[in-house]
Amino acid sequence: MNLKKLIRDVPDFPKQGIIFKDITPLLKNPKGFKSAINQMAKKYKDKNIDKIVSMESRGFIFGSTLALKLGCGFVPVRKKGKLPYKTIREEYQLEYGTDILEMHEDAIVKDENVLIVDDVLATGGTAKAVCSLIEKLGGKVAGLCFLIELSFLNPCEKLKGYEISSLIKY
Ligand code: AMP
Repeated sequence: MNLKKLIRDVPDFPKQGIIFKDITPLLKNPKGFKSAINQMAKKYKDKNIDKIVSMESRGFIFGSTLALKLGCGFVPVRKKGKLPYKTIREEYQLEYGTDILEMHEDAIVKDENVLIVDDVLATGGTAKAVCSLIEKLGGKVAGLCFLIELSFLNPCEKLKGYEISSLIKY
């Protein structure tokens, strides 16, 4: 199944010059969504993944669905101030300025095998921050899995040493 056909380019969203990769045509297509999850599951079903960590908010759609399929736990990473319990945090670089991501301090146990899942890998800054959160708690990043990778932004430079897979590349 050609998943690329189910991704809609929206120019100048959320701001001038950005071509936003809209995944909603894929999500509303049952065969497309199923195919994406099945392809992700195939790659990681024998990797003994204990937890999937995803970042808000579109990452939750793929991460939690894949967690059910793999039979592992799901951990949300959120922007600062959104999680109710005690958190650890990581500051990361945005195009202009910085932002903070948080995860519950008991979300990962030492030596757990953790898979990061998100919809789009762009510059890699967000994914790098999530790797740091997992490693702070003693978890091992078993891999990073994305629906879409914007290869022209060179995200793999920031994520050297990690195993990255993406179903669709631009
Ligand atoms: P980055 O930290 O640059 O890799 O950005 C990754 C996050 O921003 C992901 O969680 C994406 O959901 C979102 N994102 C960045 N660029 C795009 C884009 N062109 N289209 C859709 N989402 C994007």
